[in-house]
Amino acid sequence: MFDYLIVGAGFAGSVLAERLANDAGKKVLIIDKRNHIGGNAYDYYDDAGILIHKYGPHIFHTNSPEVFGYLSRFTQWRPYEHRVLTTVDGKLLPIPINLDTVNKLYNLNLTSEELEKFFDSIKEDVKNIRTSEDVVVSQVGRDLYEKFFRNYTRKQWGMDPSELDKMVTSRIPTRTNQDDRYFTDAHQAMPLHGYTRMFEKMITHPNIHVMLNTDYKAVKDIIPFKKMIFTGPVDEYFDYCYGKLPYRSLQFVHKTYDTREFQQVAVVNYPNEHEYTRITEYKHLTGQTHEKTSVTYEYPCWNSDPYYPVPKPENAELYQKYKSLADETPDVHFVGRLATYKYYNMDQVVAQALSTYSKITQHNLADIAVKRTNGWKSHLSA
Ligand SMILES: Cc1cc2nc3c(=O)[nH]c(=O)nc-3n(C[C@H](O)[C@H](O)[C@H](O)COP(=O)(O)OP(=O)(O)OC[C@H]3O[C@@H](n4cnc5c(N)ncnc54)[C@H](O)[C@@H]3O)c2cc1C
Repeated sequence: MFDYLIVGAGFAGSVLAERLANDAGKKVLIIDKRNHIGGNAYDYYDDAGILIHKYGPHIFHTNSPEVFGYLSRFTQWRPYEHRVLTTVDGKLLPIPINLDTVNKLYNLNLTSEELEKFFDSIKEDVKNIRTSEDVVVSQVGRDLYEKFFRNYTRKQWGMDPSELDKMVTSRIPTRTNQDDRYFTDAHQAMPLHGYTRMFEKMITHPNIHVMLNTDYKAVKDIIPFKKMIFTGPVDEYFDYCYGKLPYRSLQFVHKTYDTREFQQVAVVNYPNEHEYTRITEYKHLTGQTHEKTSVTYEYPCWNSDPYYPVPKPENAELYQKYKSLADETPDVHFVGRLATYKYYNMDQVVAQALSTYSKITQHNLADIAVKRTNGWKSHLSA
């Protein structure tokens, strides 16, 4: 009998397995329907011997010392600050938009103060900021919106930014200085030997058993367990009883080229041309030296693996219905990106899993206290 069945071997499932086995001494079985651990962060050496990310580039960044400290038990790190270029009007320009982006695009020589005034002169006055379009035009005006954001968002989401919640483009800052880093978090680094190696260290424990190529549906009535942690899609768990929660997906096309370097930085965005949105070259992320190089093209699509919850009010409402069902299912903890229908970064999922573990152990302590009190009461009454 397992104390916990954990569905999904991504960050959510693996962190909880590690804590439950290592800290609480529980016997845990992790299952995953894929043929590997690591969830969407899985990386592997391709046929050329280059370390690539199967599900697109995963760049680690966090402001949480707790999350960084926790993961550092399972990996050393390679310092890495992410930089992205985007192709606009035949030029390769830094994104998020900064001073250099504007100067190079329009052949100007503005200072930071002049750029602030420039933005003031071109930004649109939007009274009620609701959509992704509103966010951008109210900060940098229509021309920059159309060149950098509109078509990229249309490709990425299959929808016009005017139909999408403001949160999608609110994640991307606009800068008036020359800071061209994609993230500004206190901790930015890549696992020195890759994510999969880190996951292996995390879940290697005599109390943790792993079964791959195993769908929860196929084994849920066969495997004996006391409690469950479910990190798959919450609507799937409840047999889609209220309908399907929509996800945007991606097709990844991995290629190896016979050249040492394919592009200047790890990621180049293509907002206005091609069907793909971006190309990632992994050697920039991993620091690997190799005669050849491997890259991934991303083609957004519907009806494939669930990657991005679609941020629209009707979907949030639908999720709330599933959340109510989840809240009424006491022996199952729903954790992670798919089980809570949220766009979470890796560090946020680790934080969510660690906080779930604290709740579980407090709950266990409360259980023990109740049992002790009851035992004490029955002892008195006997
Ligand atoms: C293209 C892309 C790029 C990203 N880039 C970044 C980035 O740069 N930085 C960052 O911080 N985050 C990034 N993320 C987010 C990151 O992938 C997630 O935060 C993280 O992987 C979530 O972990 P999780 O355990 O919740 O889910 P997952 O990693 O999705 O793991 C869930 C697991 O559950 C399994 N599963 C589902 N249903 C079943 C079932 N019925 N039976 C058995 N197993 C099941 C799945 O196979 C999967 O392995 C990116 C995501 C995507 C899609």
